[in-house]
Amino acid sequence: MGLFEKFDAIGLARKALEDLGVDPFNVEMEQILSPTEARIAGREVLLAGTNNYLGLTFDPRCIEAACRATRTEGTGTTGSRMANGTFAGHRALERELAEFFGCPKAIVFSTGFIANLGVISTLTGPGDVVLIDADCHASIYDGCRMSGADILRFRHNSAADLEKRLRRLGDRTKSTLIIVEGIYSMLGDRAPLAEIVALKKQYGAWLMVDEAHSLGVLGQKGRGLAEEAGCLGDVDFIIGTFSKSLGAIGGFCVSSHPQFDLLRYASRSYLFTASPSPATVASVRQALQILAAGTDLRERLWQNAHRLYNGLEELGFSLGSEPTPVVAVHMGSKEETLGAWKQLLHQGIYVNLVLPPAAPEGKSLLRCSVSAAHTEDQITRICSAFRALKE
Ligand code: PMP
Repeated sequence: MGLFEKFDAIGLARKALEDLGVDPFNVEMEQILSPTEARIAGREVLLAGTNNYLGLTFDPRCIEAACRATRTEGTGTTGSRMANGTFAGHRALERELAEFFGCPKAIVFSTGFIANLGVISTLTGPGDVVLIDADCHASIYDGCRMSGADILRFRHNSAADLEKRLRRLGDRTKSTLIIVEGIYSMLGDRAPLAEIVALKKQYGAWLMVDEAHSLGVLGQKGRGLAEEAGCLGDVDFIIGTFSKSLGAIGGFCVSSHPQFDLLRYASRSYLFTASPSPATVASVRQALQILAAGTDLRERLWQNAHRLYNGLEELGFSLGSEPTPVVAVHMGSKEETLGAWKQLLHQGIYVNLVLPPAAPEGKSLLRCSVSAAHTEDQITRICSAFRALKE
């Protein structure tokens, strides 16, 4: 069997999409006009499917910081953190992240995906157990696979199912890492964190929360679900990304564990990849300051999230279980969802098309994500385009 035969199914699926005209999985943003608008296929389109929760990608302070860093430090670090790739900015960003979370240590990685791979696969190994929510992100699954630990999944957001599995583990809970997300990327729901923390304590396990979609979104200071649920001190490892509310690229992990810093010397995805560029580090430091300084962007984000969720609910769409900035619209068949996605784009609205197996339980979704940068009028336009799907 040739190496490429395993791609036959993908090839067939790609062929089926060719007739659509615009390929939903190869959309080119020909020109970026603002955090909420771009030119796609020659037309101005309203973006309702980015993860630009605070709309900071065009913030003049972040842009200026990135430009200044490029002029003074160059375009790239050309090395890993362990060799020549640790600049003063990386250290400063780690200190600032640690301070923001009230933790002694933070480690910066080159992406959020790499942070999950690096932390999970290094912390756990053969003989350990990872107990993960079934809807966890691909990077969490891959980190678990790389670790060689026994992988157990519990039913999405079911503390009862988690407890059942912990109970069966007996003594092994001492080397069990539970992994959940703050806001789940596909359905937009929060983990029941207070209950999960209680179980973690009861069974003596460890807990990691991936706050990729909740950093800057949840909590009085924007520190995520752990802050909102009042259990920052009970989470052993917080993972985050710079690619969503902070408007750049990169990832991090914070922890209060005294030996946490040793991960730097063991984590292959930290050791053997180039560190984030000076421009990235500078814009993230600036964005973190903005995120930490006030609540107005967060308030605007939530107003928009409620506006979109309520608007689509009134139109009779079946949505994720709670209003958050990720508004998942449950659709019918794959074909119907593709047709609706195309019709929305035709009306000048871009949302994320999510088809099985990317969405949980074989669902087809139109995933909208809301930004603080959306205007009230833009949210109304998104709702009107969805209304037209029903006409
Ligand atoms: N974790 C979760 C929950 C995510 O949704 C994502 C990205 N979609 C990542 C990690 C990876 O983040 P990054 O884009 O920084 O690689």
